[in-house]
Amino acid sequence: MNRAARCLAAVLLLTTGWRATAEEPALPYTPSLDVTAMDRTADPCADFYQYACGGWQKNNPIPPDQTTWSVYHKLSEDNVAFLRAILEQATAAKDQDAVTQKIGDYYVACMDEARADSLGAAPLEGDLDAISAAKSVGALAPLMARLQRESAGRGILFKIESQQDPDDSEREIASFDQGGLGLPDRDYYFKADAKSKDNREKYQAHVAKVLMLLGDAPASAKSSAAKIMRLETALARASLTRVERRDPYKMKHKMGPAELEAMAPNLAWKAYLAELEAPAFDIANVTAPAFFSEVSKRLGSVPLAVWKDYLRFHLANAHAPYLSAAFVTEDFDFYRKYLKGAKQIQPRWKRCVRLVDDQLGEALGQAFVRKVFTNETKETTLAMVRRIEAVMEHRLQARDWMSPETKQAALAKLHAIRNKIGYPDKWRDYSSIRVERADFEGNVRRAAAFEFARQLGKIGKPVDRDEWWMTPPTVNAYFDPTMNDINFPAGVLQPPLYDPKMDDAPNYGNTGGTIGHELTHGFDDQGRMYDAHGNLKDWWTKADAAKFAERAKCVSNQYGAYVAVEDIKINSALTLGEDVADLGGEVLAYVAWKDAVQDRKLEDRDDLSPDQRFFVGFAQWACENTRPEQQREWALTNPHSPAKYRINGVVVNMPEFERAFLCKAGAPMTKPTGKACSIW
Ligand SMILES: [Zn+2]
Repeated sequence: MNRAARCLAAVLLLTTGWRATAEEPALPYTPSLDVTAMDRTADPCADFYQYACGGWQKNNPIPPDQTTWSVYHKLSEDNVAFLRAILEQATAAKDQDAVTQKIGDYYVACMDEARADSLGAAPLEGDLDAISAAKSVGALAPLMARLQRESAGRGILFKIESQQDPDDSEREIASFDQGGLGLPDRDYYFKADAKSKDNREKYQAHVAKVLMLLGDAPASAKSSAAKIMRLETALARASLTRVERRDPYKMKHKMGPAELEAMAPNLAWKAYLAELEAPAFDIANVTAPAFFSEVSKRLGSVPLAVWKDYLRFHLANAHAPYLSAAFVTEDFDFYRKYLKGAKQIQPRWKRCVRLVDDQLGEALGQAFVRKVFTNETKETTLAMVRRIEAVMEHRLQARDWMSPETKQAALAKLHAIRNKIGYPDKWRDYSSIRVERADFEGNVRRAAAFEFARQLGKIGKPVDRDEWWMTPPTVNAYFDPTMNDINFPAGVLQPPLYDPKMDDAPNYGNTGGTIGHELTHGFDDQGRMYDAHGNLKDWWTKADAAKFAERAKCVSNQYGAYVAVEDIKINSALTLGEDVADLGGEVLAYVAWKDAVQDRKLEDRDDLSPDQRFFVGFAQWACENTRPEQQREWALTNPHSPAKYRINGVVVNMPEFERAFLCKAGAPMTKPTGKACSIW
């Protein structure tokens, strides 16, 4: 649903005795239309992405600690440097408020590498003892709940949380989802090509190494790793694919406690739920019943010792980033170096800043928005949102392929969309989390347990429509179909994405396109299945739905013909929603821009016409270099198409682009499938 994925701040540390203070940091500035990022030797009609981003690609090699480097990632790293200064100030100042104290203490604890190293695997001891003490398969269920509660990031076997009832979006219900795999996707376990086989061998070796770090002898670790791999392969086979998971009807299986028991009788549900301390519930959604049936079957057939090894490995794998250097390095070597192509691990301060953002994000975010997000930015971007929504309304009304009934429902949905800009109205209260300067792993666990309890605590309660699931510094945006809202964190409304110093052309091309993208998600092949209230409810006439499907098919045929990396084509059944949002969003942004500037006389700048500047501004959100390993992973897991096609694939469908650059019919950058696609 999101658009991304899509000079270091001057930090001067003055040390006087024990006390350090950091200078007020500043974010570096890059304009939202950067002519130095262009490659004017390229023919825009042959490869527009090269024309708009070729200079950026040349000037911005991927840093050794990154797997991909883009305008979005660079801004995100600038934010991390800025947040670091905020955290260093927080650790140094005396007599500060409780929120500042908490993020400062958390950061100090995280930065204490020597202490983490001296502890080795000791922080896992309590859990390892509990696993070791389990006398039966039945005893594993409460153990899973215990391990799930305190594992940040990677989960244990499956996920439990809360979700809006797909049929009644006003209430929160319990939700069970598949999980339990150590590779990035279920398809990794089956693909027959040489690279995939190598992935599995390396993963199995990683599992063995982690078990050795827990003290297992090499031969025993190797044998356990092979059994864990067999168990995970069975779980992977019973897991839904990413394409299946895009269909909300395939993800909806509501059931009561008795049906949970019937679905997975070997999972000791009562003991599990008692250990969770979740509110009692009479209805839960299970996204993938076949997965839970498989878990149950394997609980009945796989020896207890193998399950114990499985849990020991996943416990250590989930906590590895917070343990000693041996664990941290093994985790980096497999997940970021081997699988994604990073050359170096990120410096510890970057990992720590991101962890504060991850676990105490709305505390750290308060300082961030105070320093970087002005009311003026909020107002001007909200005005852009409203203008783009007005264009959407006009276009919905004007679609001649849509019946009046469907139009009416579509308009009701459009009018019900809530616009959330910058940061939440009410900040999350983390006061109940105990944070200690000398207990990093404990802090991570307590913050994870807080979030776990917060999620489960929603069960049975009315929905909080003010909640955000991205933190304010996040350089990204999202549409939430069950909330029916669009969300733009402060982090994505900064230069070079939204640039208050620039004129409308690049700002509408870039941020206007992002706004249009999120708005279009409400009406893409998946979002269109939800109504104005966020309920999974069909509001389309049969004929209109068929006409929409035809238009979507045009887009999936187009993207399905593009190469993602080397021998892999784009899986356009996975990327369809994003591809539709990219196209729909940019069309909306273009019309809204024309509308905004209709009374103004616009001039050429930098040898670019106003229309050309709109399109270059658009393309430059996506300038990027990515390692081939990361590209391969994304080809299987990323619902977004590669950056180049998020630009070229859009503009080939826009006659406004052809006119702006005077492209001749039959120019090299033509659509692989011929005819232009149009969604809204
Ligand atoms: Zn999206």
